[in-house]
Amino acid sequence: MRIGIAGLGTVGSCVYAILKEKGDEIEKRSGRKCIVSKVITRTHSKYEKLGIPSDLIAEDFEDLIINSDIVVETIGGTGAARTLIKQSLDLNRTVVTANKMLISEFGNEFTSSSPTKSLFFEAAVGGGIPIISLLEDYLIFHGIKRVRGILNGTTNFILSEMLRGMDYAEALEIAQKKGYAEADPSNDVKGYDAAYKLSVLMGVKTGIFPGISNIETMGIEEINKRDLERAASSDKKVKLIGTIDFEKGSAFVKPQEVERNDPLWSVDGVENAVEVETDLSGRFILRGEGAGAQPTATAIISDILRASRYAEKQNNSVVIMKFGGTSVDTPEKIRDIAERVQKKVISGVKPVVVVSAMGIETDILHDLAREISSRPNGREMDMLLATGEQKSIALVAMAIQELGMKSISLSGNQARIKTDSNFSNARIVGIDADLISRHISNGYVPVVAGFQGSTYTGEITTLGRGGSDLTAVVLAKALGSQLCEIYKDVDGVYSADPRIVKDARPIKEISWEEMIELSKQGAQVLQSRASECARKYDIKGLVKNAHTNAWGTLIWRGSKVEQPIVRAVTSDQDIVKVVLQEVPDRPGIAARVLKTLTEQNVNIDMIIQSMRSGEFNTMAFTVQANDLAKLRQDILKARSEAREITIEREIAKISIVGVNLTATPAIAATLFETLANEGINIDMISASNSRISVVIDSKKVHLAVNAIHSAFNLEEIA
Ligand code: ADP
Ligand code: ASP
Ligand code: MG
Repeated sequence: MRIGIAGLGTVGSCVYAILKEKGDEIEKRSGRKCIVSKVITRTHSKYEKLGIPSDLIAEDFEDLIINSDIVVETIGGTGAARTLIKQSLDLNRTVVTANKMLISEFGNEFTSSSPTKSLFFEAAVGGGIPIISLLEDYLIFHGIKRVRGILNGTTNFILSEMLRGMDYAEALEIAQKKGYAEADPSNDVKGYDAAYKLSVLMGVKTGIFPGISNIETMGIEEINKRDLERAASSDKKVKLIGTIDFEKGSAFVKPQEVERNDPLWSVDGVENAVEVETDLSGRFILRGEGAGAQPTATAIISDILRASRYAEKQNNSVVIMKFGGTSVDTPEKIRDIAERVQKKVISGVKPVVVVSAMGIETDILHDLAREISSRPNGREMDMLLATGEQKSIALVAMAIQELGMKSISLSGNQARIKTDSNFSNARIVGIDADLISRHISNGYVPVVAGFQGSTYTGEITTLGRGGSDLTAVVLAKALGSQLCEIYKDVDGVYSADPRIVKDARPIKEISWEEMIELSKQGAQVLQSRASECARKYDIKGLVKNAHTNAWGTLIWRGSKVEQPIVRAVTSDQDIVKVVLQEVPDRPGIAARVLKTLTEQNVNIDMIIQSMRSGEFNTMAFTVQANDLAKLRQDILKARSEAREITIEREIAKISIVGVNLTATPAIAATLFETLANEGINIDMISASNSRISVVIDSKKVHLAVNAIHSAFNLEEIA
């Protein structure tokens, strides 16, 4: 299990220290291996003080979350801590926290969004006392009648000191000196802290956290020495007691007199104690250290071990690592990625590697085929193309083995990736992941060939250009892994093609919806079919540089945003414009044109119709340059009754991609104005909520993309 720790205050540092020093012992006793994989804290000097190696320091919350199976929140408060927990749960992480205030007030929000048990907070109530485990596990089938106890060590300490003759102010001062009370003690002395804990306990038992506004609360500020003396004269003590009466449905915190035969009577100083009254087995008493770094940290570690049982099921430990052609095109790069795989294995991850063919191998194979045949047979073509990936998987597996790890290469057929028989563009119809899973449990790193599969009759097929991305996503789904890491020769998905725009920046986070648009509009980064598939299965993608430690781009469901955001600008020069000159202006013609294109399997993108005269229109549409060969111009001309069909090749499509782009016309206005200022004419326009595209002269692409990139300040915000 990879453990990410956020917050290195007294508790967080203690958790870190225990895991570091006693990790092996904990593993021996519990059978669970817990390694701190990332830490983050606000005060940077802590890193040095605790001797934390630099590769453990997370860049930000996302970095921490992605690289952990269990996220430990010891930041405290309800600001950053709340965000961290929400994001962690959204990314299917299991969370451990000691933050009673947060759980009390926002527990409902957290548990509503994650259906499985993924939030653990033993340390939030009674420090080292395992009251939550008792209620949640051991007593799970019991009816709980009542829970009452001394839940706040600070007030219990103050009351105990007062009993020894101190007055309230003096006792408080001692508590503060000893570090039992904070400079502003209100949370404790007014009873709120105990109330938060009651709210948490109610949530544990009922599933709903009432919050402290629903708990009647009275503190100890009004208590004076005389009250204590009066109680003592009849052999009683005054204690701040929190009670939940499940039968009556009431909860309150208030100072109460307890008799000598009450189990809470002898609980003095900073100790805590809780009494649970059940229907089946009477009363249970738990008593122990209620606060302090060590007891809280041990409660957290105990939770980590409990959580690891759940986290295992999430399968965050299986991570797909996909390497594109540019990342495996030399032996050095292959060795480099083998080392990266090794690092993952050491940190407790079980990687499944997917690779593309080396460099431009697939292009070379295409060219070779064209030298033999102008229309190569589909089956033979795929037989040929599949050799590219077969070469690279063998080399990558060898490189991993060289480092002393077990690894096995698997072709698409061997990995049991089943497809239909649509050669060169086959669809995956199923994966039997058992074999790969078996290799994983036997300690192997499977290296699977991307871009290929086989039909049920054993024919080798390929999945369309860029298809290794699809292999990676589908494997993630089949193996129940939540994360697909996609390694490239660049630092992520950029705000523009970095070869065109010098100032382009990696985008930190983007939704699949935007990614799909980006891919479709010409950014090569990810195959659009793969993105569509990832969106459907709710897989997270992380596009990273194969050779550096830069963070990369997280692609996921996305957070809800209302504000329009322009995320990236992209260009596509592989399009042509087909113009139907002088088409009769009659109902039904456009339908006939589209029907003809559908029959010919030609996908059109933008379409425009302009009036020429009363009788004739000009109709134009764009298609992918590759598709042009499929277009039967003669048939189209006859059906559309056009005077002539012309093809314009010197065009390019420029698109801006983002969120809510049509919410305000200002975005489109900026785009058009920018192009106008550069003297670039707009030929066609189309818009959707996540994209605005224009067709321009292909010679102006460079100029246009750069101007748009800076008009939307993408070099700053990406
Ligand atoms: P591989 O298959 O090896 O992973 P790709 O074929 O996906 O690599 O090509 C990656 C290249 O795509 C990068 O080197 C980069 O120049 C280019 N590219 C184009 N647009 C973008 C973009 N928006 N973000 C990142 N890279 C882009
Ligand atoms: N090698 C194949 C291609 O170049 C598949 C891939 O790279 O994803 O298209
Ligand atoms: Mg590629």
